[in-house]
Amino acid sequence: MKRTGIIAIILCAVLLCGCNNEQNSVDSGYVDVSDFVSEYENELENKDETDSNMFPLAEYDDKAVAVMSLNFSANGKYLYCMRDTNIRINGESGEVRMLCSKAGCAHKSDSPDCSAHKRMSGGLSAPEGYYYTLGNQLCLYDGETHKVLFENNFCTDFDKEMNEDNPYTLGEMVYCGGKLYVFGLSHYFIYDISNGTTSDPAVFIDRDIIMSVDTNGENIYYCTQLSNELYVYNIATKESKKICGNSPALDYKNGGLYYVQYENGVPMLYMADEDGNSPKKIIEDCYVNFCITDDCIYYQNYADPAGGAFMCKIDGSDPQKIEFPQKVITENDVDIVSKKDDKDLLYIISSSAADKAYIICSGSKTTGSDVTPVEIIFALDKGSAECRLIAETER
Ligand SMILES: [Zn+2]
Repeated sequence: MKRTGIIAIILCAVLLCGCNNEQNSVDSGYVDVSDFVSEYENELENKDETDSNMFPLAEYDDKAVAVMSLNFSANGKYLYCMRDTNIRINGESGEVRMLCSKAGCAHKSDSPDCSAHKRMSGGLSAPEGYYYTLGNQLCLYDGETHKVLFENNFCTDFDKEMNEDNPYTLGEMVYCGGKLYVFGLSHYFIYDISNGTTSDPAVFIDRDIIMSVDTNGENIYYCTQLSNELYVYNIATKESKKICGNSPALDYKNGGLYYVQYENGVPMLYMADEDGNSPKKIIEDCYVNFCITDDCIYYQNYADPAGGAFMCKIDGSDPQKIEFPQKVITENDVDIVSKKDDKDLLYIISSSAADKAYIICSGSKTTGSDVTPVEIIFALDKGSAECRLIAETER
């Protein structure tokens, strides 16, 4: 199966799944958040930057929606991994913390009301907590409670065709300029964080579903899942312009639209201006898990025999290979060796709000003759190709 095919299936599952989850009930689509805003302001005053806060003073994760970063959010000095178990990893020390503050909770998968096991994928981290969608709801986990901010009651005929059981499902979101752009199957809302209001729904995509999306506040950039095309949608004029076909992933950063376009089965990374004009090919063989930071681009290259990871400048120049170190710990005279697996698919995660970039992949831990599979997390200072193995977690 082509790699693009695999991705399409994964993302489709994510979008079409958000449907059978439990529903909290709210009486109307709009929720009064004034209490919450003042509560949040009080909280901010009392917050410090120590590890005791689950979401310490930080910024908003500005990541694009892309299949390889759906369940991760990098912010401040932490990486948030929101999957079967929701955890936070300290990028310096590697300390792993469960995202649950319930007193006496064992944080097991069957622990009642354990937030570490609540589905919170597809969201993003922010100073006030973790935004995520659940069914047709936009929610915020502030480290203690889960608040429903908005409930979607809008859908198109196409949404009904695609997801008969719950056409109101919300999927992913992106952050820009104090607002969350929250995407349903073929429409979106703008949620204003400062006052908790939500815009009218706008349909921006014609009989298709998004695969990757980002915004600069004026345009919405999106790749479609069924037709595999890249568009720029102007929010003011409500018009979409097709940029190219065979494009499964994009990222907008600092005036540049970065996107992957397949040519004869090989993925190329292009950079265009914010209207999608003047595209320039900047990396050959750049898989969809590329990550644009403010300083550089991290990407995986399958033309490399080891499927290695690279870092290059923001214009694609000066590529440097990233070497993945092993970690050896000696306990009771036994060496415990953690290392990355070969040819593994890499999750490469960062954001403007994070002080590091992270590479997450499968690996193994060897204790004497005993080998256990683990997931390995590497951290890189942004702009650097030097990486450190900071944590291993069970897989
Ligand atoms: Zn728990």
